[in-house]
Amino acid sequence: MKSKIEKNKSKSYTLKPPFEVKCMDCKKDLVVNFVPPRQEYSKKNNWGYWGGRKENNDKYKCDSCLVDMYTNRKYEYLEAITDSKKRRLLRHYLYDERIILNKSDL
Ligand SMILES: [Zn+2]
Repeated sequence: MKSKIEKNKSKSYTLKPPFEVKCMDCKKDLVVNFVPPRQEYSKKNNWGYWGGRKENNDKYKCDSCLVDMYTNRKYEYLEAITDSKKRRLLRHYLYDERIILNKSDL
C-alpha cells in the first residue's frame, strides 16, 4: 500500500479532490480534476473560462459538447470565445482529444 500523498509535504503541492458537475448542454455528469503542477482545477470544461465571462464560472461543457460546438456550430463558438489565445488553446485541446480517439490521424 502506498499512501504517501498525505505525508509528502516537502513539496508545496496541494492535492484537491476532483468534483462532479453537470454539462450545461447535455446534462451529462463530468469530472473536473485538480492539476497539481498548476495548483488549480482543470479549466478545460469550464465555460466561464473559455467565454471569459465571470457569470459562467460555474458552468461546464463536457468534451463531446465542446467538440460538437466546434465542429457543427462554428458560429456559436466564434461568438462565445473572442480571445484568440483561448481559441487556439481550445483547438489544441480538441485536436489532442481527436488524436487520442483516432491515432491514425497522426
Ligand atoms: Zn455535454
